[in-house]
Amino acid sequence: MNFDHRKMRSEFPLLASASGLHYLDNAATSQIHQSALDALVRHETTSRANVQRGSYALAEAASAAYEGARQQVAVFLNAASAEEVVFTSGATAALNLAAASLGALMKPGDEVLISLAEHHSNFLPWQQLKARYGINLRLLPVTAEGRLDLAALPDCVSERCRLIAVTHASNVTGAITDVAAIVAAARRVGARVLLDGAQRVQHGPVDVQALGVDFYACSGHKCFAPGGIGVLWGRAELLAAMPPFMTGGGMVAQVNLQEPVFLDPPRRFEAGTPPIAQAVGLGAAVNWMQGLPWEDIHRHERALAVRLLQGLAAIDGLRLLGPVNMEQRLPVLSFAIEGIHPHDLCQVLGDRGVALRGGHHCARPLLEFLGVEGASRASITFYNDESDIDALLTGLAAAIGLLR
Ligand code: PLP
Repeated sequence: MNFDHRKMRSEFPLLASASGLHYLDNAATSQIHQSALDALVRHETTSRANVQRGSYALAEAASAAYEGARQQVAVFLNAASAEEVVFTSGATAALNLAAASLGALMKPGDEVLISLAEHHSNFLPWQQLKARYGINLRLLPVTAEGRLDLAALPDCVSERCRLIAVTHASNVTGAITDVAAIVAAARRVGARVLLDGAQRVQHGPVDVQALGVDFYACSGHKCFAPGGIGVLWGRAELLAAMPPFMTGGGMVAQVNLQEPVFLDPPRRFEAGTPPIAQAVGLGAAVNWMQGLPWEDIHRHERALAVRLLQGLAAIDGLRLLGPVNMEQRLPVLSFAIEGIHPHDLCQVLGDRGVALRGGHHCARPLLEFLGVEGASRASITFYNDESDIDALLTGLAAAIGLLR
């Protein structure tokens, strides 16, 4: 194996200096990698200036760094060009941008299909289009395992469907979406496909062209980069036809009292001063990720997930949410324990240095369907090891003894 998780862990400043921390909340926010932090600090201390508007060397350096980051993200996503990469403040902002802008191009009675497994960030922006444009929101059901129910696609994708917007991987069940089936269903009626990749990006480079989708949204803080930065990738010809979401400086070519002329994408969608240093940090993070041995990493993550699954299976009254087949899921494991509130459980675990997330995970429709009010979630990434899993299992036994 080309991958040494101890060395990897030492490259994350917070983890390297924290003792007794078992960080298993990576689906909420991953830790920042040294290369991303270095790039951010270097930018702020050597190249800090506003982008695009300056004619002096420092401003040119800032613009070059910002556009360089765009190029790095384009490589990570295998976008056809850097112009297809729009920087936002996060996945939520990217999804809101897509919904507002695409919604403005739709007609009353048009349909958007999302799934029951969506994070609120890929649910509410589309739901808002009903009141604003008379657009109907349709829901793809999920199976008992929490996977998108592909058998229901023919019933859910009508001739009025303009867009299918679904998660690439669930933040609750970890279930990975069969994107090919979604794309095929959309293409049959000429609809577009958007993937919410917020969870997926942490687990390696993405190939948007091979996936065959039209839009992809993600966040930097979930892939070892700074917070406050995200991406909406879109096919160039589609972005070119879309109106801006926010307006202001930096996105307009001509302003007059009649009709403003907006710049071409991506700048049309980046009104105001963008999160420059954060973008530079994201560029460094994905550039670093690009060179990692992902096969070995996935083997390591899967072995940890299986170790955890085996431990969880032995706990009385524990229900695991999501597919049992590890090939069909990310190492994101949510579970509910009869008679114990996830907040209490996560509090007791937190006191022992085990960081999990408990609650509804911003996915209330899914939890309601699965018949649980809340769940505790352990999300594993490559810097975790057996000691994290064992601390969780030992902590769970202690917490159950205390709380039951
Ligand atoms: N989509 C999914 C699947 C998520 O898990 C999250 C965050 O947890 C989001 C969207 C929103 O991401 P952000 O909070 O970074 O905007």
